[in-house]
Amino acid sequence: MLKKLKEQYANENKQFTLITKAGLVLESDQAIFNIPANSSIFEFHPFFESLPTEHMGKEELNFFCIHLTLKDEIYIVDIKVIPKEEGLLLIFYDLTSHYNTYQSITQTRNESVIKTELTVIKNKELVERERFKNRFIQNFSHELRNPLTSIMAILGLLCDTKLTYEQEKMLDFLKESNTNLRLMLEDTLSIGMIDAGKLNIRNSVFDLHKLIELLDFTYKAKAKAKGLNFECSWDDKLPKYLEGDRLRLFQVVTNILDNALKYTKNGGINFSVVLNQKRANLVNIRFEVADTGLGIAKENQNKIFESFNQVQSNEIRKGVGLGLTIAKKLLELMGSSIKMESTLGEGSRFYFDINIPYILFPKSISNTKSKSKDKNSKQLEKKYKILLVEDDAYVQTTLFKVLLKTNRFKINLVYDGSLVFQEVVNNNYDLILMDVNLPNISGNQITKLIRDFPFKNVKNVPIVGITANALQKDIDQYLEAGMQKVLIKPFENEELLQTIFTLLK
Ligand code: ADP
Repeated sequence: MLKKLKEQYANENKQFTLITKAGLVLESDQAIFNIPANSSIFEFHPFFESLPTEHMGKEELNFFCIHLTLKDEIYIVDIKVIPKEEGLLLIFYDLTSHYNTYQSITQTRNESVIKTELTVIKNKELVERERFKNRFIQNFSHELRNPLTSIMAILGLLCDTKLTYEQEKMLDFLKESNTNLRLMLEDTLSIGMIDAGKLNIRNSVFDLHKLIELLDFTYKAKAKAKGLNFECSWDDKLPKYLEGDRLRLFQVVTNILDNALKYTKNGGINFSVVLNQKRANLVNIRFEVADTGLGIAKENQNKIFESFNQVQSNEIRKGVGLGLTIAKKLLELMGSSIKMESTLGEGSRFYFDINIPYILFPKSISNTKSKSKDKNSKQLEKKYKILLVEDDAYVQTTLFKVLLKTNRFKINLVYDGSLVFQEVVNNNYDLILMDVNLPNISGNQITKLIRDFPFKNVKNVPIVGITANALQKDIDQYLEAGMQKVLIKPFENEELLQTIFTLLK
């Protein structure tokens, strides 16, 4: 039984052909194709012309994956050539479908390998592009900081001089433009830092009530200037002191409020802060901004949270399209998420719920208040000696002017890091205001030298670093080197003076 079945399948797809060494076909079983007896095997297919038929010894030869094109059909066969007494026995194995399947599997496999490799290359390219973008943003914003510091300082000084009404208006305009430029710079830098994973949330105790009052005051004025109504409502059950990142929370809320102002022509804006829940030491608070502005079409509602995406028409567009992306990403870092409802032509509502720890009686805040009061009164009596170390001539001049104008300082100027140390050792300074990136020796190194000096009057002099470098890890390094405070360019004149007065004894 098995023998019969075996016979049926054993010869399937096999053809036996006997030829003479001169290539004459003696016999063929024609199981696959027709090779007539007494014909020449070389006429059957040119492949056999390459066979050394006349010179074959006793060794058999094997050929694999031979393509035989016969009329319109292509056979893919393995061929065994076995020397026999009568001549040569050819065994053809028809493996056409086997080779075709194999080929298509290999092709699919190769394609998928190529696809994977392409994805890897693409990812690499994306990472490289991202790295380049972040480096570019950092360098670019770094270079902008010096000129912006000068502009802000000079504007501050100009505003305090005698001006005509028209000049005052022009200065207001310049100040506003400069503030916008500064905010854009901060936004661009923030997005670069968030994407590079370098932005850390820094929690400290802050006064929520004051924050809301500040927002209410600022945006009431801004809305009024645009002929809009601004309503601010907040729960009086909201705790006063929270422990969170005030700066970033402020950045999120102001980005949303600025948009509401930007994209509303008539009507008004409602800003509300509501206590959702209070448990253990945590509060959950909802911040919400609703406007009666242009609204956003349904199909655009997801796009607006992507970097550099703006969906309003050209004439309305202002800014760079980063505000909402930053708000979204910052909220994610703070464990919250931004939500939005909007109807085109009617208005929009942006809101988020956030968990923040609250503090009942913050010690640090009440202590610093009374201390700084004492300090202020003492400070009124004295003229302080300050060393200003700055290599950028414009920034040097403007800072010098800002300090001098207070009439509270005697100022010496140094532009080269290597001159600082001898200057400090030979004079009794009350404070050093120093750019961190100086020629010859860095502000960091000078600070360390000063802190290691054996005499107290030199060792303990307060040092305020100024830098165009806004990366937190660098700022931490400056503080570690021994600087008391680091100001990031560009800064307001008030911020500079307040920092200096807080550190002076
Ligand atoms: P920018 O305001 O700088 O363009 P944003 O990221 O803050 O960038 O906003 C992205 C886009 O979302 C805006 O260009 C605008 O088209 C739309 N948008 C944001 N807020 C509002 C709003 N309150 N009303 C209408 N459109 C808005």
